[in-house]
Amino acid sequence: MSDLTSPPAERTLILVKPDGVARGLAGEILRRVEAKGYSLVAVELRTASAELLGAHYAEHEGKPFYPPLVEFMASGPVLAVVAEGQRVIEGFRALAGTTDPSSAAPGTIRGDLGRDWGLKVQQNLVHGSDSPESAAREIALWFPAL
Ligand code: UDP
Repeated sequence: MSDLTSPPAERTLILVKPDGVARGLAGEILRRVEAKGYSLVAVELRTASAELLGAHYAEHEGKPFYPPLVEFMASGPVLAVVAEGQRVIEGFRALAGTTDPSSAAPGTIRGDLGRDWGLKVQQNLVHGSDSPESAAREIALWFPAL
């Protein structure tokens, strides 16, 4: 690396979706986050309201998959996590793998653990913020005290 200064730590919002919690994968997913070297800043198991999920997924409102996505996300508890580390936003999305578990690479959470048989793409185990702006907005929604 030509630049010897480390980039500042950043934060991201991770959700273990209801399918991940129901399948008992929350611990395995957190293990992968910690094994990569990211720190856990906040962790909370909760069943999200339609209001919170509507705000969280506001960018998808109007898309065909939005109503079933919000319904699915409200169907059971999710594990909401704030993780911290250098380039954690991009890094967690790399750990998660591509959106559709059926084409996510082996070695990723969705590629290793996602089940694609008979399931919709919404059931892809995890959410991770996709930009610093999204991370700030989503962390404020899920953990207003942070
Ligand atoms: N999703 C879906 N159908 C689609 C695209 C997305 O059900 O055709 C769901 C899926 O759960 C995904 C979420 O909507 O994780 C948000 O979509 P996005 O494109 O932001 O994917 P992600 O960033 O989670 O990979």
